[in-house]
Amino acid sequence: MTTFLPIPKFLSSGEVHPAMTAAEAINEANRCLYCADAACVQACPTHIDIPEFIHKISTENTTGAATTILEENFLGATCARVCPVAELCQGACVMNKMAEKPIEIGRLQRFATDHLIEQGIKPFQAGPKTGKKVLVVGSGPAGLSAAAELAKTGHEVTVWERRELAGGLSTYGIITLREPVEIAQREVDMVRELGVQIETNTALKDGEQLRDVAKHYDAVFLALGLGAVPALNIPGAEHIMDGLRYIADVKTASPQAPEFHNVVVIGAGNTAIDAATTARTQGAQATIAYRRTAAEMTAFEDEYLFAAQAGINFVFLASPAEVITTNGQVSGLRCTRMTLGPADAEGRRQAIPADEADLILPCDAVIAAIGQEKFDAETGFGLPLNAGYMDVTKELAVIATELDNVFAGGDATRITGDASTVMAVQDGKIAARSISAFLDKERDNG
Ligand code: SF4
Repeated sequence: MTTFLPIPKFLSSGEVHPAMTAAEAINEANRCLYCADAACVQACPTHIDIPEFIHKISTENTTGAATTILEENFLGATCARVCPVAELCQGACVMNKMAEKPIEIGRLQRFATDHLIEQGIKPFQAGPKTGKKVLVVGSGPAGLSAAAELAKTGHEVTVWERRELAGGLSTYGIITLREPVEIAQREVDMVRELGVQIETNTALKDGEQLRDVAKHYDAVFLALGLGAVPALNIPGAEHIMDGLRYIADVKTASPQAPEFHNVVVIGAGNTAIDAATTARTQGAQATIAYRRTAAEMTAFEDEYLFAAQAGINFVFLASPAEVITTNGQVSGLRCTRMTLGPADAEGRRQAIPADEADLILPCDAVIAAIGQEKFDAETGFGLPLNAGYMDVTKELAVIATELDNVFAGGDATRITGDASTVMAVQDGKIAARSISAFLDKERDNG
């Protein structure tokens, strides 16, 4: 008989991190040293003026604090919840060097931005009309960030979103424990309130359509993200679920959301942990199978510790070899036992088959979270690609083609470095500035 682990309470009650009370926020803000040339600001990819917003919290100017945050990062409420702060701002806080705990920047940011959301305050307005029209394709963090900046500058902005709801990964890919759908949707509303037209269930089909819209709009920003989880080439692979799809179905309470009792998740990144956590919140047992060891996992350390607390099992040095079915239903995953060999060109030790018997992991579902499909000649809209990513000039987010008014940013362009919400927000901001500079030049030449 299967023994089920109880679901920890924190997996069944709202957001995993509690909100700060006003008194807690002011106390925490008063610990900040308000450093000049602050290390936390340097470590924030969007360069929020952190000492400034924390000082405003300490003086009970919470709306001002939120405005300071959103000036640099329009998705401040999302980033307050999903940023790996231990690796970024909080990790850089000088308090770490003083044998003190760092300032809780992420929770303070959430306190300020939630205040704005709860009070329905609109800190920004659309700029004076420039008469220029911009199409943004994709409404994830890069697309929304760009759309907000472009609208603040006065351009007329339309966003196309292929799914039913806007917000991209914030809406569909981040588990509710970290960010409820309502927060993502409120940020979408804030972009709409700047006059941005968001058209859902509307996708860019192909390169021909891209060339067509590039003629009708003064500029086009592609914030397309990446594709589905790539297929695994093993027997029974047709029974494997896409981890992002699974998280999305459960998060949006889709009628298609499956119910499992015992899942095995293949992967070692944050999405693998999120898929396993989602299964745990649904009452299932969850095991993560990874062909290397904990030391080579790409998930943030905090996420790994979180997963361990959530009762997720880890099986290391196990590479998927076959999905086993019984009467057409998944009943297990056969894994080849691995060992670690020499490091590859990126310094990561390679997994090589060990001389050991295969391992069978009993389960009723196998979920894959092993990255996302990149672009190829067929899916890349006829644009120049570099290693499957859209090839943009680094600072300007411009794609070097004959379509000089087409720009791109976000995960679709992230050839190096980790894809993350905050990096996508910054990409959108940079692209919006590049687009505005391009449109200014057009006007001066025109
Ligand atoms: Fe405050 Fe730490 Fe930033 Fe200094 S580094 S301004 S103490 S949060």
